[in-house]
Amino acid sequence: MDIFTMVKAAVTVRQAAEHYGLQVNRNGMALCPFHNDRHPSLYVSDDHYHCFACGEHGDVIDLTAKLFDLRLYDAARKLASDFHLAPDKPLPESIRQKWKQKTKAQQLRENEQLCFSVLNEYRRLLLDWKKRYAPQAPEDSLDKRFVEACHRLPWVEYQLDILLQGDSYERSEVVSELTADGYIRKLQARLREERYHE
Ligand SMILES: [Zn+2]
Repeated sequence: MDIFTMVKAAVTVRQAAEHYGLQVNRNGMALCPFHNDRHPSLYVSDDHYHCFACGEHGDVIDLTAKLFDLRLYDAARKLASDFHLAPDKPLPESIRQKWKQKTKAQQLRENEQLCFSVLNEYRRLLLDWKKRYAPQAPEDSLDKRFVEACHRLPWVEYQLDILLQGDSYERSEVVSELTADGYIRKLQARLREERYHE
């Protein structure tokens, strides 16, 4: 049996899709990783996948090749290895490196979690500042932490709202804005500083 036949017989498209980070719902639908998908348009069955929006389709080997940018033969070997199907010849390092790269879906999910936890911490800090540094008398000059809290809280809460309740398109918009220019990393570093000084 050649490796293509073996892999296709042993691994369903759905198993591979889930193994590589796609979330397939009860109806067999997932967010398509090949276009900017707002609502699940990718149909995943046992032996094929098909995107109703962008038209991508194929079998388990096509899916893996597409996700990791591999030739079909290397994709089949990756599947054989990831699903422990057969001992294979040792693989060249260049291919191993490619396998380790995260898929776009995994990367997006991780960024989303990062944005959420950093913003949530920022929100807690601002709520604290808003109380702690509020002016005590009308003639007091405003503390800059109080000012920042008043300014930024509505924005932070809006972003958190989208991350919690938005659809995948809205969430990915927020994530790409927040990660642009390393904003969220800088904020994370700043929060670490603030914690240190408290
Ligand atoms: Zn698609």
